[in-house]
Amino acid sequence: MRKPAIVLDIDETSLSNWAQIWQDDFGYVGSGACDMKPDTACGFHAWELMALASAIEPTLALFNLAKQKKVAVFFVTGRRDAPDLRAATESNLTKVGYLGWDRLIMRGANPVCKDNDVTSYKRCERKGLAESGFTIIANVGDQWSDLDSDAADPSKGSYAEKIYKVPNPFYYIP
Ligand SMILES: [Mg+2]
Repeated sequence: MRKPAIVLDIDETSLSNWAQIWQDDFGYVGSGACDMKPDTACGFHAWELMALASAIEPTLALFNLAKQKKVAVFFVTGRRDAPDLRAATESNLTKVGYLGWDRLIMRGANPVCKDNDVTSYKRCERKGLAESGFTIIANVGDQWSDLDSDAADPSKGSYAEKIYKVPNPFYYIP
């Protein structure tokens, strides 16, 4: 029997970066330090390493329901797989209440899933999960690149029975 699973994106799906978005006045600042002092910018990478993002509560509730129902939970994130960022991401997820996920899949670790664009990286990771015996009953993300545009027909590559789009009015990742 195939094993049920859900796939969750992280940024703006499981974790909210609202404090950093607010600090940067809704602009995007990728590099540079982040000390959250008034009238200073906060670099997103530095912010990620601080592990201070908050939980998006409805997603945490879904996570806990899945755990209760013995549904596997996989995070598939565009965050790159570097030791410091993996440690910070694990720490941040744990700190806000995500406990006992099955795998944290980060970008760049899997040589099969080439690092070319977010849509194909994430699709490739879902394909791998499907091929290892999981049925992805729900895929949740704030970007269409998390979900695949042809998700209505899993045979075309979404590898999920249902997709759920979380609103994100702040940024778009193609
Ligand atoms: Mg996201």
